[in-house]
Amino acid sequence: MKSNSWKELRKIDHEVYLLKHVSSLLGWDQETYMPSRGIEERAEQISLLETLIHEKITSEAMKEALEGAKEKPEIEEETGKESLFKPLTPVHRAAFLREWDRRVERARKIPKNLVSRLSYATSVGQAKWAQAKKEASFNLFKPYLEEILILTRELAAALEFKDSPYDPLLDEYEPGMKCAILTPLFEQLRKDLAPMLKEIIATSNVDDTCLYLPFPKEAQHAFGERILNAIGFPWERARLDVSVHPFTSTLGRDDVRITTRYNPTYFPTAIFGIIHEAGHGLYDLGFGDDIRGTILAEGVSLGIHESQSRFWENCIGRHRAFWTYWFPILKNEYLPALEQVPFDTFLKSINRVRPSLIRVEADEVTYPLHILLRYKLEKALIEDTLSLSDLPAAWNDGMEELIGIRPSHDGEGVLQDIHWSMGSFGYFPTYALGTLYAAQFFSSLLKQYPLVLREVEQGKFGTVVQWLKENVHVHGKVFPAEELCRKVSGSSLDSNYFLQYVREKYLH
Ligand code: MG
Repeated sequence: MKSNSWKELRKIDHEVYLLKHVSSLLGWDQETYMPSRGIEERAEQISLLETLIHEKITSEAMKEALEGAKEKPEIEEETGKESLFKPLTPVHRAAFLREWDRRVERARKIPKNLVSRLSYATSVGQAKWAQAKKEASFNLFKPYLEEILILTRELAAALEFKDSPYDPLLDEYEPGMKCAILTPLFEQLRKDLAPMLKEIIATSNVDDTCLYLPFPKEAQHAFGERILNAIGFPWERARLDVSVHPFTSTLGRDDVRITTRYNPTYFPTAIFGIIHEAGHGLYDLGFGDDIRGTILAEGVSLGIHESQSRFWENCIGRHRAFWTYWFPILKNEYLPALEQVPFDTFLKSINRVRPSLIRVEADEVTYPLHILLRYKLEKALIEDTLSLSDLPAAWNDGMEELIGIRPSHDGEGVLQDIHWSMGSFGYFPTYALGTLYAAQFFSSLLKQYPLVLREVEQGKFGTVVQWLKENVHVHGKVFPAEELCRKVSGSSLDSNYFLQYVREKYLH
C-alpha cells in the first residue's frame, strides 16, 4: 500500500467536487442568461468537463488511492497538518469510502463508447422529441426512442443486475432502491389511494377562478422573495432567477441557484415553484461543515431531495396554517383583486384535487398516480415486455384506469415528459418517493413539535427549518436513504404516512 493513498483520494475527491460545480455553472447559465447561439460551444464545454470528471473517476490513480485507503481506513490523519482537508470522522470516513467505491465501480463498468453513443442518441432524441411533441405524433419520435432504449438496455447489462435490468438504472438516482421494493410499495399505494381519490374528487369541487386573476410578474416576484425571506433563504449564499423549467443547481459550497417561471394570469406556478425549489436549495445549503467540499456533501438520493421540495411546497406551503398568515399579506399588499375572495375558497382552490392529464400540473393527491403509470411502462420497456408500437395505447389505457381521464392526443399523453428522450429511465419513481418521504417526515415533525403549525400561522419557520437541517440536511450522503428515513421517522419508507396525510387533509 502506498502511504499517501488518503491524501491522493482526498485530492481527487475535491477536484471532482470542484469540476462538477464548474459544470453546473455552465448548465445554470445555459438555462438562464446564455444567448441562444451560445448553445453549440456550451454543449462542447460541458461535454469536455464531463469527460474530464469521468476520466478522473476511472483513472488508475483513483483506483490505487481508493484501494489503499480501503486497506487502511483508520489512517486518514496522514493527510497531515499541512493538508487542505480536515480529517473525516470514522463514520464519515466509512461513508466516504462506500460512496467512492460505488461511484468508481459504476463508472468503470460502463464502456466509453457506450457513453458517447448514448450522449449522441439522447441529444438527437431530445430535439426529435420536442418536434414530435409539438406535432403530437409519437411515430416521429419512435425510431429515436427505439435507439435510446436499445442503448439503455445495453447500459443496464453493462452495470449488471440480478432480477430486473431496471434495477441498475433506478440505482443511479435512488441508490439502494430495487423493483422488488418499489413494485409492492407502489401497488399498495394504488390500491389504497383509488377509493380515497374518488371520495375526494366528489367533495372537492370548488370554483378556483381566484387563481387566474391578473398578477404582474414583478409583484409575484416580490411576494415570492418575501416568503423566501421569512423562510430564512440566505441571499448571500443563493440566488433566484427565471428559467423555462424551474430547477435548483448547486454551484459551490456557498452558492445555490434556484429558478422559477412567471405566468401573469396564474400565480401558483411561480409561488409554489419558488417554495418547491427553495426546499431543494435549503437541502444543498445545509450539509454539515465536516463533510462540505467532499462527495458526501450531496443529496443522498433524488427521492430524498424531492422530499425536501415537496415538504415545503405541499406539507407546509399548501397548509391552512401557512396561508392563515400569508393570505392577508397577499391580498392586502400584492393582489387587491383577492379582496372579495373568502379564505376558504382560496385555500380549497390551491388544494383542488381533480383528474388531469399533465403530470407537472397535477395536484398532490393524483400526482403519485402519474408516476405509477410511468414506472410500470418504462420498466416494461426496459424489460422488453412492452413494444414501442403499443406504448401510446398502453399510456392512454393506463391514464384512464389510474386517473380516470384519457388523453386525446400523444402531446398530452405519452410525449409530455422530456425524460425518456434524455435516456433518464429510472428517474420518475423518485418523484413519487419524494412525496412519500415528505409525508413521513412531516408526520415526524408534528409528533416531535405538536405546536409547530402555530408558529407557521404566525409566519415563523425557524423550527421547521432547523428540524429539517438537523435531521436531514447535515447528513448529506452519510447515511443511505433507507437508514436516513429510519433515523428521521423511526421506520422504513411506508406509504401509509402519505395516505394518512391525504385522509386528514382532504377527508376531514
Ligand atoms: Mg423538484
